[in-house]
Amino acid sequence: MKKLISSLASSLLFFVASFSLISAAKSAEYFSIGTGGPTGVYFQVGNAVCKMVAKIQSAEHGRKKGTDKALRCSAPSTGGSTYNIGQIMEGELQFGVAQSDWQYHAYNGSKPDKVKPFKGLRAVFSAHPEPFQIIVGKKSKIKDWNSMKGKKVNIGNPGSGQRGTFEVLMEAHGVDTGFFGGTSELTSSEQSGALCDGKIDAFGYTVGVPNAGVAQSTDGCGAKIIDLQTDAVKKLVADNPFYAWATIPKGTYKTSKKDVTTFGVMASFVTSAKVSDDLVYAVVKAVFENLDDFRKQHPAFANLDPKRMIVDGLSAPLHPGAIKYYKEAGLM
Ligand code: GLU
Repeated sequence: MKKLISSLASSLLFFVASFSLISAAKSAEYFSIGTGGPTGVYFQVGNAVCKMVAKIQSAEHGRKKGTDKALRCSAPSTGGSTYNIGQIMEGELQFGVAQSDWQYHAYNGSKPDKVKPFKGLRAVFSAHPEPFQIIVGKKSKIKDWNSMKGKKVNIGNPGSGQRGTFEVLMEAHGVDTGFFGGTSELTSSEQSGALCDGKIDAFGYTVGVPNAGVAQSTDGCGAKIIDLQTDAVKKLVADNPFYAWATIPKGTYKTSKKDVTTFGVMASFVTSAKVSDDLVYAVVKAVFENLDDFRKQHPAFANLDPKRMIVDGLSAPLHPGAIKYYKEAGLM
């Protein structure tokens, strides 16, 4: 009898132990946000989102004594916009930051050679504006688009948004890489060093302002950002809803002696229709309920306006989990 009781007790113990293991496994949900290069602004967006998720989680868990599902967020550095969209489509990433032009083309399947068509792409919100910038070396003698002829230019790594946008810019001007004296595919964290070392004369970068990577070449070795107002750029802005004129204000960097005019896009936060409403809702709530704190995470986020964030630069449909929060919060 004693033996029976003790074996019953140990099976019960086993049952309880395995149940709590299962519920422990169930109680954490891991998700990842694709960003960009470690010196870019996307990396700051992704990590700011994770920080807000952690903040709201610890506050809620403090109240509810850990009864809610714990969300574990990571925001690794990646190749950028089109890489992120591709990985969201594969289910390898749950969220990502992407330029509004590549969000549009992925959802509409309008540039299948540059970003895979993805009808399941969903918009969550937009973040900061990203002017497309051509940064030229101090001794490069480049003043405008035409004087880039024959120069060594970094067009960006495959998978990055700036690479795709640079290709669009070349097509719009009716040239290919042969227009330049040589092109490289350096990542955003390599290009400033290469410019300062004289390995390249210029690079193209779609990035929020200010940016530490750009500052490395402007403040570090006297590089400048040039105006981009050619007829081809005027046509791009006129013909496409996801492009707009953008200004990099005088004084932004040490060499910014006057305002620079170029075209730009919005950085947007995207996901897949396959990601659960609960997860998207929780992430959006964490960001929008801590927006003051979010704005302080990087100077490029200082002007984030919730009303604009749910409209600007979003061409894929909003995810239902995001809509649920925006309605509750009275934003929609
Ligand atoms: N716009 C760039 C891209 O799509 C990334 C900029 C950043 O990292 O802030 O690849």
